[in-house]
Amino acid sequence: MDRLSLFKKTNSSKEVNASREISNNRLFLSPPHMSGNEQKYITEVFKSNYIAPLGEFVNRFEESIKNYTGTRYTLATSSGTAAIHLALRVLGIGKNDIVLASTFTFIGSIVPILYQNATPVFIDSDESWNLSPKLFKKAIQELPKKPKALIVTHLYGQMAKIDEIVQICKENGIYLIEDAAESLGATYKDKHSGTFGDLGIYSFNGNKIITTSGGGMLVSDNEEWIKRAKFYATQAREPFLHYEHKEYGYNYRMSNILAAVGVAQMEVLDDRIKKAREIFEFYKNELSNIKEIKFMPEIENSKGNRWLTTLTFEKTDPLKVINKLEKINVESRPLWKSMHLQPLFKDTLHFSNGVSEKLFQTGICLPSPTDVSLEELKKVTRTIKQIC
Ligand SMILES: *Cc1c(COP(=O)(O)O)cnc(C)c1O
Repeated sequence: MDRLSLFKKTNSSKEVNASREISNNRLFLSPPHMSGNEQKYITEVFKSNYIAPLGEFVNRFEESIKNYTGTRYTLATSSGTAAIHLALRVLGIGKNDIVLASTFTFIGSIVPILYQNATPVFIDSDESWNLSPKLFKKAIQELPKKPKALIVTHLYGQMAKIDEIVQICKENGIYLIEDAAESLGATYKDKHSGTFGDLGIYSFNGNKIITTSGGGMLVSDNEEWIKRAKFYATQAREPFLHYEHKEYGYNYRMSNILAAVGVAQMEVLDDRIKKAREIFEFYKNELSNIKEIKFMPEIENSKGNRWLTTLTFEKTDPLKVINKLEKINVESRPLWKSMHLQPLFKDTLHFSNGVSEKLFQTGICLPSPTDVSLEELKKVTRTIKQIC
């Protein structure tokens, strides 16, 4: 199998490593990787003068996410965090409501719960690194009050045990919001991450698998919710000629310029995923002799986008690896620090089992830029081999 075909193609092209030329050869974790069509589409936006949070490209971007993921309704937003906030708002979640959430995640997944004055309760991971369905059940049984919703994160582009989670939500009448910020294009039994829950969100922040520099998308099969979300995302403006308001909303829509970037990025999403998966395969093969290294698993029947290659060390101190890589101008990072370990949430209820804490202590994210060369990846694996 010609596993490294994409590497060869990238290496011979003129656009190679554009991000590295700009950044003094620094190898970043996940820098933006443009397709070439972004500027063309932005020029079209400027010609039409729709430099606004509406316009042709916003519609096109929403359409393309719809077609790609198979969801029925979409709303482009200013960020993934904004999309989660809108999801909670349309579900009517507010003061005195409990929202369960993955503890092993990025804080953008959680702060919208605080914006709504609701109460977060954190759930730990299992061997999948993602949310433990077992602890989720335990939380439902032990909490004095029924949680209204669960926000589950598909971390690093890898699917959580979504069909078990959907089942538990259904049995208990709990809304499911999928934080697929990192997992656009990941599938479970060929169904896309973000489309299993009542609502799902994607992020197009600068570091994600594709980017609009900043932006997000709210998706659902429920037309009413997406309509409501659009209303709240545009300052809850009532349908009058003048500005009339019965409720308050937000300024959360995506700009037409950024949507133009998104449309161009969607054209190469499958290439980016293919490349990210090849990067993972390369690391895995190169480091297969080091027994203490374990990679983030892929659950059965799923295909992740491998946004970042992540691994844990059994003996080696990950900070030692990070520092050593830093010396050769390579960015790497510890895994997410669980929410229940954050000072901000020191008084927040959590159902933990030590799994995500251990992952945080032993794991790192490796640079996974989709325009990386084989030589650059070898630099990384050589360094890790030296240390371990
Ligand atoms: C990036 C990210 C978010 C937030 O998305 P933004 O577009 O940056 O607001 C939320 N959750 C997870 C897991 C993320 O990685």
